[in-house]
Amino acid sequence: MFFCWLNRLYRGLSSPTGRTTQLIWGSLSRSLVLSSRRRIPEFSSFVARTNTCGELRSSHLGQEVTLCGWIQYRRQNTFLVLRDFHGLIQLVIPQDESAASVKKILCEAPVESVVRVSGTVISRPPGQENPKMPTGEIEIKVKTAELLNSCKKLPFEIKDFVKKTEALRLQYRYLDLRSFQMQYNLRLRSQMVMKMREYLCNLHGFVDIETPTLFKKTPGGAKEFVVPSREPGKFYSLPQSPQQFKQLLMVGGLDRYFQVARCYRDEGSRPDRQPEFTQIDIEMSFVDQTGIQSLIEGLLQYSWPRDKDPVVVPFPSMTFAEALATYGTDKPDTRFGMKIVDISDVFRNTEVRFLQDVLSKPKGTVKAIRIPEGAKYLKRKDIESIRKVAADHFNQEVLPVFLKAGRHWNSPVAEFILEKQSLELIRLMELQEEDVILLTAGEHRKACSLLGKLRLECADLLEARGVVLRDPALFSFLWVVDFPLFLPKEENPGELESAHHPFTAPHPSDIQLLYTEPEKVRSQHYDLVLNGSEIGGGSIRIHDAELQRYILATLLKEDVKLLSHLLQALDYGAPPHGGIALGLDRLICLVTGAPSIRDVIAFPKSFRGYDLMSNAPDSIPPEELKPYHIQVSWPVDSEAEKSSLDHPHHPES
Ligand code: ASP
Repeated sequence: MFFCWLNRLYRGLSSPTGRTTQLIWGSLSRSLVLSSRRRIPEFSSFVARTNTCGELRSSHLGQEVTLCGWIQYRRQNTFLVLRDFHGLIQLVIPQDESAASVKKILCEAPVESVVRVSGTVISRPPGQENPKMPTGEIEIKVKTAELLNSCKKLPFEIKDFVKKTEALRLQYRYLDLRSFQMQYNLRLRSQMVMKMREYLCNLHGFVDIETPTLFKKTPGGAKEFVVPSREPGKFYSLPQSPQQFKQLLMVGGLDRYFQVARCYRDEGSRPDRQPEFTQIDIEMSFVDQTGIQSLIEGLLQYSWPRDKDPVVVPFPSMTFAEALATYGTDKPDTRFGMKIVDISDVFRNTEVRFLQDVLSKPKGTVKAIRIPEGAKYLKRKDIESIRKVAADHFNQEVLPVFLKAGRHWNSPVAEFILEKQSLELIRLMELQEEDVILLTAGEHRKACSLLGKLRLECADLLEARGVVLRDPALFSFLWVVDFPLFLPKEENPGELESAHHPFTAPHPSDIQLLYTEPEKVRSQHYDLVLNGSEIGGGSIRIHDAELQRYILATLLKEDVKLLSHLLQALDYGAPPHGGIALGLDRLICLVTGAPSIRDVIAFPKSFRGYDLMSNAPDSIPPEELKPYHIQVSWPVDSEAEKSSLDHPHHPES
């Protein structure tokens, strides 16, 4: 794999970017557009080498070359394989007396030492070519060698197939970055961002603007990190996103903004989140929802890696209500079926007690998912663990119902299923013999959420048994739209909170409901989902100060003083505007198929939020805290903590 990836990444870059004639910015945009005609990069300009290790081929035969790289391995003091970011090349170590010093350097330097060698490109003797290596037809007859730096005994081998714990990888991240996989992930990320910039700036006139990361507290939304200031009792906050700034840029007439923006959220440890992460953040004036959606579809299509199946646009779209009812989540994985089916009507006259009880309530429903050939693949212990998930996390009962050969049911409720119900169930759920249905009863939202979760659990179980449900080469995009504007607060369901953020505009046809039944108002908020992960979200914004004030103060009970600058700005002729942010880390993670977003970030935090390489966050002596007028209030049981800060050791290391 190591060998051809870089060429694959750069393939296609030699051709011009396409629409070079759409000049809307006069001479400035002309030069911008033309400079984006890219060629295969010149990897050896300005440095002490003539070529990269990975680029040499038979066409270079006879050339004198100088290469720099790391010693990958050595064979019998005769051959040495040298590696750089571009690939591997075999060196022939000279054996004659006159080159004894060269031989000594190359034979004695430990693996992963960094060397510079010069020599001639020669062809390998017949029969010794290595067809698995792009450089496998040739080798370098070394004439001179220089040890640039020696490598100590490594904490782990720099080979992708050598397994190492993630904590060790993060502790020695600079070594981990030498692996093929990390090189591929970071370079692909850079390529995609480059194409995105090109698409936004050069093809569509967006302006790349940096916004501050020292800001103030934003009401609602995610928890923010605070930064002490020298003014007593005053703190900055690290923004959870550039949301307010990008809206203010629209008021400022910038019209089309984007930024590869660093965002910060203090959400505690979550396995697939990072306290700091990157968004492709976008805002436009005079746009509606379809405008933003088309822009994003074009952006992804344009920046999509050429070695993947092309992105097909437009992306399908589904309402929030439909997503919840059919997939039990607002981020459905649409690569496979197993949809939730409402079977309440089948059981209206049932004798099964618990179904009867639920259906007698006003919001009671009976729902099920079908697991194709579940009888074949699911073991008794799987069914037990499924029922346990339902009981522990949802306080819900789940009944497995097996359809056996000859249309016989096997289930605790089998004897109560009447002939008519049986036929109706088979028809509604399109059941085949050997299928299993998981049936639950309860309030709509709760029943759907449970089955949505079980749907994914069962997909994992089936895939662990060899069934292919989610094709890894498939990228299934989906817009989820028509979200509610507000949701009941988790800690206090009597109060409302924004489903997206408080700047999201209500659906135009629901405005009147704001003053009567705000919980029923739909919003102009859209999420982009890829293979069951949310990779972006945005909205058309409120540009009317009065409406914004009403939502903040009256409905959300927020302190409007915190946002007086924004409310004031909206009053000075703010244009209608909207935008979106794509989660770059998650997107690249899905594109590369990496197991975690930490694998697409050069220096990520561990899932508990530590930097295992430098041991951040770290303690600060009390005298250094003085200028900030703060002191640590140690928890009661603090002695152990204090000493662990003095001798840092993190749970993950
Ligand atoms: N700022 C929003 C977020 O971070 C995205 C947006 O509405 O544009 O989720």
